[in-house]
Amino acid sequence: MKKFEILERIKQELPKTSMVADVCFEGANIVIYTKSRTFLKKSRDTAKEIVSKVKKRIEIRADESLLMHEAEAKEFIKKLIPSEAGISEIWFDSKRSLTLIEADKPGLVIGKDGKILETIMNETCWIPKIRRSPAIKSELINSIRRTIFENSDYRRKFMNQIGEKIYSGWDKTKPYWIRISCLGGAREVGRSCYLLQTPESRVLIDCGVNVASDEPSIAYPHLEAPEFDISSLDAVIISHAHLDHSGFLPYLYKYGYKGPVYCTEPTRDIMALLQLDSIDIAQKEVKKTLFTSKEIREMIKHTITLNYGEVTDITPDMRITLHDSGHILGSSMVHFNIGDGYHNFMYTSDFKYINSRMLGKAETEFQRLETIMIESTYGGKGNVQPSREDCEKEIVEIVKKTVARGGKILIPVLGVGRAQEVMFVLEDMIRDGQIPEIPVYIDGMVWHVTAINTTYPEFMNREVRNSIFKEGRNPLLSGVFKEVGSQKERIQLIEEKGPCVILATSGMLSGGPSVEYFKRMAEDRRNSIVFVSYQGEGTLGRRVQKGETRLPISSDNRTNVFEVKMEVYSIEGLSGHADRRELMNYISNLNPRPKRVIINHGESSRCLDLASSIHKNFRVETTAPRNLDAIRIR
Ligand SMILES: [Zn+2]
Repeated sequence: MKKFEILERIKQELPKTSMVADVCFEGANIVIYTKSRTFLKKSRDTAKEIVSKVKKRIEIRADESLLMHEAEAKEFIKKLIPSEAGISEIWFDSKRSLTLIEADKPGLVIGKDGKILETIMNETCWIPKIRRSPAIKSELINSIRRTIFENSDYRRKFMNQIGEKIYSGWDKTKPYWIRISCLGGAREVGRSCYLLQTPESRVLIDCGVNVASDEPSIAYPHLEAPEFDISSLDAVIISHAHLDHSGFLPYLYKYGYKGPVYCTEPTRDIMALLQLDSIDIAQKEVKKTLFTSKEIREMIKHTITLNYGEVTDITPDMRITLHDSGHILGSSMVHFNIGDGYHNFMYTSDFKYINSRMLGKAETEFQRLETIMIESTYGGKGNVQPSREDCEKEIVEIVKKTVARGGKILIPVLGVGRAQEVMFVLEDMIRDGQIPEIPVYIDGMVWHVTAINTTYPEFMNREVRNSIFKEGRNPLLSGVFKEVGSQKERIQLIEEKGPCVILATSGMLSGGPSVEYFKRMAEDRRNSIVFVSYQGEGTLGRRVQKGETRLPISSDNRTNVFEVKMEVYSIEGLSGHADRRELMNYISNLNPRPKRVIINHGESSRCLDLASSIHKNFRVETTAPRNLDAIRIR
């Protein structure tokens, strides 16, 4: 049997004394379960030796029979770790012999030279993994972790099946080709979804919705395309949590998909939160929901998280690496090494090519790269954004003016991305005395996303990491930020409280609390609304932005007309997307420079404009496909 060849080889490499209970796959990695304590203690050296021979990642763990009882192990770990570490939770993944320890100070759990971890492993036989506890308590992160650990048995089998598929080998004598079909997000912003195929593999890249539309033929990706067959889909990769990239994913599980989803850990948590919120909003508006929390749980059960730079096989002929894209926390560009280096393709997804306050900028160095697919949200000739400094100054002015006339400032945000960026800016300006110390209200969703952000500072830029790890100061935890959760609190805030800033979802006023605030604030001249993100065509946000002053808004089967008297501002330079200049600089600085550029994720004219400019400037082949077009890459 060819597919177990690698496992047989490993078994032969193991010494007789190893008492192997099982050798199995865990995705692309290989895990050896042993019944020998002595062998487990020496596991690090043995693993190293085998890795050098078989060139695959290997981990050695204890068989269930060796594990200390969970309750007893919990006590042992708590006693062993100094209390300053601030342990908040200890989870057990019983079928995979792993324990996850959540602590405020992960460094203190690890101990000097990893001594504490070693003691835990030697005494309890559980393999400890450490995570930072959310600085703001998050029920969602808890329930995600619970879903994973409660399904320990399922996940062990599931990951083994993925491994069997990856290691089943492929027929290199057959004619080889690579093609990509655009199922959504081509010459438009919204419902990003691409099917990447080879004779061996079928992989879906992103699976989003168009949040600006309720009309299924515009809102959802073209899964009716003849080349899409859910039963033969091998894997899904999600670049980042925004719903236009992840909002349709749970639906796949409703319709029978049982395969893996690859993304970063923050992406998994934030997309689950945004998807749950989308159900919530739909229910409030008495709209049909696409899926329920059950399918979101299924999605979590099947998610395999990767770190930036971690190379992983996902099918016999495809290997992926996620790279930082600087767009939102955990957002990634996806690099594909296809057919044993036959071709290298990269999907940039949404990216930023300057440093922002919280995040770094998109990666440009790659080992090999022949084709890229690049976004063009701001790809048109005129889409040059003002500098960060200028727009921060503008915010200062707007806040000062509004506060002086006793008004409030509403900033509709996507919940994740610009929301945290705006929080960084406001916190800094208040600390610096540039604007008066007014409260900054963070509405429910934005607050929850912020809580997730505080769990993964490793994904932030170097300055922020230094500030958190060395100075112990996290701007997101500043006292100026106040959580608002209920409708009652929202009304109180508008009617009884003085000048303040309010950050609320959705970013395009297409539902959610930002619309509630807007309705209560629009007719008061003292107030201001500040748009900081892209406003989709047809959305209420776009209409307000364009200066319409009489706007009918329906809720509870009634339509009321609102007169916009508040000041309306748009600040473009805070966007999480690269502007025209950044897009061109990015192509120019890519190393190596790709031979072919496919342009997506932008209004039609912007896609075409960017395609022609890249072609003229860099003499590379460019295309701007439409939805349902398929392109042969090789
Ligand atoms: Zn995005």
